[in-house]
Amino acid sequence: MRAMRLRAANEPLRLEDVPVPVPVERQVLIKVSVCAVCRTDLHIVGGELDTPKLPLVIGHMIVGDVQEAGQRAYRFEPGERIGVPWLGYVDETCRFCRGGLENLCVNARFTGYDLDGGYAEYCVADERFCFPLAESYDDLHAAPLLCAGLIGYRALRAAGDAQRIGLYGFGDSAHIIAQVARYQGRRVFAFTSPGDTKKQAFARSLGAEWAGDSLAAPPEPLDAALIFAPVGALVPAALKVLDPGGVVVCAGIHMSDIPSFPYELLWMERQIRSIANLTRRDGEEFLQIAPKVPVRTDVHPYPLAEANQALDDLANGRFAGAAVLTIAS
Ligand SMILES: [Zn+2]
Ligand SMILES: [Zn+2]
Repeated sequence: MRAMRLRAANEPLRLEDVPVPVPVERQVLIKVSVCAVCRTDLHIVGGELDTPKLPLVIGHMIVGDVQEAGQRAYRFEPGERIGVPWLGYVDETCRFCRGGLENLCVNARFTGYDLDGGYAEYCVADERFCFPLAESYDDLHAAPLLCAGLIGYRALRAAGDAQRIGLYGFGDSAHIIAQVARYQGRRVFAFTSPGDTKKQAFARSLGAEWAGDSLAAPPEPLDAALIFAPVGALVPAALKVLDPGGVVVCAGIHMSDIPSFPYELLWMERQIRSIANLTRRDGEEFLQIAPKVPVRTDVHPYPLAEANQALDDLANGRFAGAAVLTIAS
């Protein structure tokens, strides 16, 4: 089969011919239809996440059809369409798993990082971590829900019942979460790179009542800020526009250093926290809500062989929404 593989950090992915993987216990073999491109993929290729399996097939927003099942894999029928997310395996026994925080599992393995992912014609995945997908989505538009959507949803949950939500970095996650937040009756304020009027207009079209530059002040204080851009300087910038008791949620897996800031920005019970990975519950909840909203995803298709171009376009902010590799379709 054809796969785009990473051999070493900071090298382009290479189109290679590799054997079709064989599903082991609890795994299914999936014929990949599409795989969306995540900012985390950039951090893996760029070496900021520095312990990948190598060589590696990246990609963790996979939509495809089940081909066959390994031993003790009974959950899906051959031909069934499923989605594969970032969380690829947990031990179900460590103190985090037992406490409902399997996203922090000490033995977790991640799709497209510890395990080969979806920038390929076939992949295998542990059936316990896959999701059925609503029929109202075609493959292309379902793919971005699987990480941008559900890790964004976990970040939104971390904002509690905050009414006025700031979204910093209006890319794949924010364009989905803006719609969910509006559906929940919250108010959305969008922050983009300075002068990116195109993304600001995109944010307004998805229900943001205000959109502006990342260092600008919104018309009123916010109750929560979700930061999707990998820019540490946004943390004090967001604290500055929060009401007392508000929370800054850092939703990315990597961020540049956070500059020092005066304690008064944090004073009055403001909080800073991160979001790591996802639990299966996040996925199940979000994938039930998404078709009800209904969340519409803005997708930019690329052929598998142009994965490096998709990553470069993402790194340089050349599109709003999500890049998706079209593999079987
Ligand atoms: Zn991701
Ligand atoms: Zn565990």
